[in-house]
Amino acid sequence: MPRKLIPKHTPALGSGDFMPYLLEPLRRRRRHPALSDVWRERLPDRALFGTPSGRHALWLYLEAANLPAGTEVPVAAYNYYVVVRLLAQKGLRPVFVDVDRETLGMDPADLRRKVSPATGLVVVTHMYGNPADITEIGAICDEHRVPLFEDCAHAVGTTVAGRHVGRFGEGALFSFGPLKSVTAFGGGMLAVAPSAAGHVRPGPPSQVSWLTRRRTFFCMLMVLLMTPPLYRWGLHPLTRVASRLADRGISRFRDIIAPSTNDAWYRFSPDSYPPFRPFVPDMLRRQLERLEDRVDRRRAVMGEVKRRLADIPAIEFLHEDKHGRANGSYFGVYVPDPEAFRRHMLDHGVEITPHPFYDCSQLAQFGDYADHCANAAHAASHFVRLPSYSSLRAADVDRIVAATTAYFAAGRGGTPRPPAVTRASARAA
Ligand SMILES: *Cc1c(COP(=O)(O)O)cnc(C)c1O
Repeated sequence: MPRKLIPKHTPALGSGDFMPYLLEPLRRRRRHPALSDVWRERLPDRALFGTPSGRHALWLYLEAANLPAGTEVPVAAYNYYVVVRLLAQKGLRPVFVDVDRETLGMDPADLRRKVSPATGLVVVTHMYGNPADITEIGAICDEHRVPLFEDCAHAVGTTVAGRHVGRFGEGALFSFGPLKSVTAFGGGMLAVAPSAAGHVRPGPPSQVSWLTRRRTFFCMLMVLLMTPPLYRWGLHPLTRVASRLADRGISRFRDIIAPSTNDAWYRFSPDSYPPFRPFVPDMLRRQLERLEDRVDRRRAVMGEVKRRLADIPAIEFLHEDKHGRANGSYFGVYVPDPEAFRRHMLDHGVEITPHPFYDCSQLAQFGDYADHCANAAHAASHFVRLPSYSSLRAADVDRIVAATTAYFAAGRGGTPRPPAVTRASARAA
């Protein structure tokens, strides 16, 4: 591997983005802006609640919605398994809906087949920051009089018809975890329509304990280690250590470094996270001020890489902007053999993520709700994430393109593997 490694993701923070908060315990309390001030332009008609994480936002919404046990909740099969776990843990019944192969968002045609009189909520994810077909999905929800919830964990800066996502349903979650494109070392947000706000009961803030402080600190450290010069010697080797520890039953670190790795025993526990920190709105404000620049830059990277790889038939691209304007935060493509491609790219100093998410309809832990979703299965076995962060330089983009071109020029277009992801094969990957 070359000395320099291009990480799959970097938060692109400057020291001014976090130093004030790092030093905060040593100084006089500063006044922080309210979340609603920070988001006013983008989410003007929503009531906002700061939460310890994105999953807490979903949990808070589910508590407010108070749906009867067994209520069916259509959710995209290609998904972050934690979202599905929370639904099941609340006593609801996840109903897996296939995704559109071009966007990885919920396929409205399959949703139409799967809504039933028992449906009580639809959860749609703007996967990878690509807008889902929110107009069509919203229309189906209206027809059946069920509320819509948007998972905007990847989608800060994503718009549909010029409006920021998170305003198209009754509620939406946002996540500011260490791996998200806008980060506050943790934290999340629930955005709800004013009509629903009265039902949301945030509960007393939990105490900042030594344990939860440690988590914030670890997230902060991780974000710092993700900056490109440190990454090769910092987070990259740590990832291996974390995954070995997880194999021995200590999954605490992997849950932070590689949170999307399937953990069949995961159960949500509200108190395991630090409470929403007062500095979060301020930290977000700084990043949101330059959001449009960052989005433009990431989209330019994505556009350039797609253009330069367009002649390789074995690569299949998404149509990120099919239903709006993607934020470019997660740039991915389909390749025949993600694992072999990952090894090749790593040898050329580019880190890619071979299996970023799962086809949850095939995970053993959701066996009670199992289904066959062809596009989700295809995505789970062929989709890879390429770097697209805003601080990538022209030489980095050249390297990504050259390494990819070399891989496929060597005749490794290959025949696709059969689209089956079992727990064992996903673990091995
Ligand atoms: C990260 C993420 C969440 C939840 O965010 P946390 O802050 O980690 O709880 C939800 N959905 C998707 C798709 C995510 O990637």
